[in-house]
Amino acid sequence: MKVIRTVDEMQSESIALGQRGSVIGFVPTMGALHEGHLSLMTRARDECETLVVSIFVNPTQFNEENDFDAYPRDLQADLGICDEAGVDIVFAPDEAEMYTPSRDTVVMVDQLSRPLCGMSRGRGHFIGVCTVVAKLFNIVRPNVAYFGQKDAQQALIIQRMARDLNFPVQIQVCPIVREKDGLALSSRNVRIPEELRPKATGLHEALALGRELIRNGEQNPQSVYTLMMEELLKEPAIDVDYLHIVSPETLEEVDTIDDLVLIAAAISIGGVRLIDNELVSPDGPWEE
Ligand code: AMP
Repeated sequence: MKVIRTVDEMQSESIALGQRGSVIGFVPTMGALHEGHLSLMTRARDECETLVVSIFVNPTQFNEENDFDAYPRDLQADLGICDEAGVDIVFAPDEAEMYTPSRDTVVMVDQLSRPLCGMSRGRGHFIGVCTVVAKLFNIVRPNVAYFGQKDAQQALIIQRMARDLNFPVQIQVCPIVREKDGLALSSRNVRIPEELRPKATGLHEALALGRELIRNGEQNPQSVYTLMMEELLKEPAIDVDYLHIVSPETLEEVDTIDDLVLIAAAISIGGVRLIDNELVSPDGPWEE
């Protein structure tokens, strides 16, 4: 496994791979790797000849400096995980390598970036995400890039960006990986205070309730919202950031639930922000 720290070296490597006709699969991450990331790598390993993983905690997508500073980092452990997963190249640039002080360009996906996390974290969040992913696409030049459904809005925005800007890359979205008790895996989970950790499942439980209500025929989003909110508010340690029932294509609130919907929620517990979602079809389980 090669570890590359500079943009020039990574770009030369990917150009050479492309010229040899090697299909490059790419998994962009912010490190602190867990089974969720691993599921993306395993799928990419199966489908592509060359597997590149990037590890870069991107400062421009954090709206709070404290959150950026507190974000878990462990490059040595991450490299071990990548090696075991059969990764060919880890691209791990530092901040100065990715951002020159005179940079003056950003990428924005407009409408899709407004609701949900765009509303709660501010306009800059998805501008930061899109700009860094666009840069990574140009540096790594992947044929296929893998993203997690855990960050449903992000995956949708990246798909739209790739389509709108004609990036020659196929975007694959992989299912959410969860702990046994239902909590979606996240690098942030290690920061949940131990005594609050069992209560963090409240988020998943509320989403499961929403799914059940819809599958049992409830078509009124307001009723689903109210019962889910009651479920979430039962746990005083949970602060609800947002809860929305939206179209999975436009992220706009739906008036009636008669088709596939995305139930998306963000909470904070012990000062740690967690997001999760469920894609629910009124006709039964959502299948990939
Ligand atoms: P991050 O390092 O948090 O930026 O995540 C890197 C990629 O891993 C993103 O595409 C995430 O959506 C994906 N990911 C993170 N957690 C999970 C999870 N629990 N299940 C599936 N994918 C995940």
